[in-house]
Amino acid sequence: MHFGPVRAVDGVSLRIERGRVLALVGESGSGKSTVGRCVVRLLAPTSGTVRLAGTDVTHLSRRALRPHRREVSIVFQDPASSLDPRLSVGDIVGEPLRLLGLASSRRERETRVGDALEQVGLRRQVAQRYPHEMSGGQRQRVSIARALVSSPRLLVADEPTSALDVSVQASVLNLLADLQRDLGFACLFITHDLSAVEYLADEVAVMYLGTLVEQGSREAVFDSPSHPYTQALLSAAPLANPREQRARRRVLLSGEIPSPTAPPPGCRFHTRCPVAVERCRTEVPLLRTTALGQVACHLVADDGSGPDVRQQQPVPVGEG
Ligand code: SF4
Repeated sequence: MHFGPVRAVDGVSLRIERGRVLALVGESGSGKSTVGRCVVRLLAPTSGTVRLAGTDVTHLSRRALRPHRREVSIVFQDPASSLDPRLSVGDIVGEPLRLLGLASSRRERETRVGDALEQVGLRRQVAQRYPHEMSGGQRQRVSIARALVSSPRLLVADEPTSALDVSVQASVLNLLADLQRDLGFACLFITHDLSAVEYLADEVAVMYLGTLVEQGSREAVFDSPSHPYTQALLSAAPLANPREQRARRRVLLSGEIPSPTAPPPGCRFHTRCPVAVERCRTEVPLLRTTALGQVACHLVADDGSGPDVRQQQPVPVGEG
């Protein structure tokens, strides 16, 4: 059996300024985690570039990449699987310092590990413990300490709270927000939790089936979403105000997200878009700059106005 090459992500271009948080949102299968892994070079992109502070690090060898490793860190979704159960917390948090040669002595490493643990709200003595002796929330704090111990310029946080109990999600999110504000690193925040995006992000980028469909400031994307998919996504997010929640009309998209091995031609969203027209089946909409940000939709005007799918009934338009 032969499968064609899977382009999990196609033509995605993101720029994050120092001290800013860019949220990357979309359904599972949209390719947002793949973008995060390309940024930290856990995956090598087949095309495109990854630049860190102006330096192209896309195709650097393992050795040449080393000086840049400390610049970018990642926090994964599930601390239970991302922390080595055989290592003590101190060894886990100190590992980047050891591998990157960032501490001149064992004593310095232990001091920096203790500082990092305190920074994430844990006691220094936790360094002697093992991951299985800790709660999920504490383990994720250890992951964050490990990610920040090398003082990176960019933190990729890949669904950092979604594997945690609801009761501790808010405290981990608050911690990330405080650390980001105090330390000033840039953050690529990958999530499907739109209330977390509203709380944490300065900018929002929306992905659908491996492509970027909309990008703009948090205010523009949340208050005036241009792309039909963004409108549908936001209509499904719970609101704090029960009256607003009752009054809001939810957009129900027909069908499942198509397979990335065989994305629909034209606009990749056309098989589920309630306002698709004939042109959408054949012509790929380019990401254009509008008055509100950037959007990839044939029906959105230069001032960012376009169809409001919240007024439409879901109309399946076939499988392309
Ligand atoms: Fe919908 Fe067409 Fe816009 Fe795609 S280009 S989002 S199918 S209206």
